[in-house]
Amino acid sequence: MSRKILVLPGDGVGPEIIAEAVKVIDALKIGHGLDVELDEAAIGGAGYDAAGQPLPEATLAKAREADAILLGAVGGPQYDTLPRELRPERGLLAIRKELGLFANLRPALLYPELAEASTLKREVVEGLDIMIVRELTGGIYFGEPRGVHTCEDGEREGFNTLVYRESEVERIARAAFETAMKRGKRLCSVDKANVLEVSEFWREIVVRVSGDYPEVELSHMYVDNAAMQLVRAPKQFDVMVTTNMFGDILSDAASMLTGSIGMLPSASLNASGQGMYEPIHGSAPDIAGRGMANPLATILSASMLLRHSLGEAVLADRIDAAVGSVLGQGLRTADIAREGEAVASTAEMGAAVVAAL
Ligand code: NAD
Repeated sequence: MSRKILVLPGDGVGPEIIAEAVKVIDALKIGHGLDVELDEAAIGGAGYDAAGQPLPEATLAKAREADAILLGAVGGPQYDTLPRELRPERGLLAIRKELGLFANLRPALLYPELAEASTLKREVVEGLDIMIVRELTGGIYFGEPRGVHTCEDGEREGFNTLVYRESEVERIARAAFETAMKRGKRLCSVDKANVLEVSEFWREIVVRVSGDYPEVELSHMYVDNAAMQLVRAPKQFDVMVTTNMFGDILSDAASMLTGSIGMLPSASLNASGQGMYEPIHGSAPDIAGRGMANPLATILSASMLLRHSLGEAVLADRIDAAVGSVLGQGLRTADIAREGEAVASTAEMGAAVVAAL
């Protein structure tokens, strides 16, 4: 039976970059026996325009039915004055929550051809290949109580709560160990166990889960040191696992080691392996509609989709190799071109990847 991929183009450059990723999937259907059915729905500003909601009911219903979801990006200045609950970004948070997408996988991989695009020295980043596994649906971003109140002495106080249940830590730890098993079998758990009780608890559970993965070499690092090590010697890491907020910060730092936001994919998975895959960048309204966006992050998101939700590792490897080959040929969109280099359009880059397949 063919598997279902729901495509959510979204806003801004979303439809442009998604179109190129769909061409790649279509090419694999025709030429390499990939058996999938594609459907499309509106989310974000497009959802609001079509149905008055950033996550229309019909979109959520299709998402629940799908084996995997490929998302472009959401957001745009024309929606910034809407009430908060109708803003495009709400659609994204809502779909993550509704589908229980608790494990966010963010690779930071440097293609050798782009070593000069990093702000760090070539020898520090050349060969970089890290996977950050970030807990996405718990921790301080969701913890209660939260808010701002006035204390007895009349001074105001703001507060949030960093809270994790044992089952939440266990499932993200398992996701990270499973990821490490498919890679270099080294896992670094990042916490702040020297200061926070919840971090000590996190560490205790990660250690317990490690008993089920004797092949994986587990280490622990405090988050402040991890931030420093990521810019000092990032190649020491294979897989890192951490909480929602630490992961938010560290994964952005790690992604910039590779030089371009237009190159990096991500996956958000739930307990049954269903996932939503998207580039890490936003809707880039400044370049939308001009054929300038780099579609590679979205094409690489399609590769992650095949690998993690559909079990098609061979086809995912083909996409990754095709991207490497296109970069090797010297093709560059504006974001990764050096001064004076010829610049390819979004569609030219997509077509080149299809040709390289
Ligand atoms: P952004 O990631 O959209 O853009 C930041 C910069 O990177 C811009 O200069 C943009 O032109 C460039 N850029 C982004 N993607 C690119 C690509 N594929 N190729 C070439 N250049 C690219 O971030 P922003 O400008 O802060 O946000 C714009 C909108 O996107 C906002 O509405 C924001 O809320 C939304 N947003 C959405 C997501 C998401 O959908 N997951 C994530 C972040 C921001």
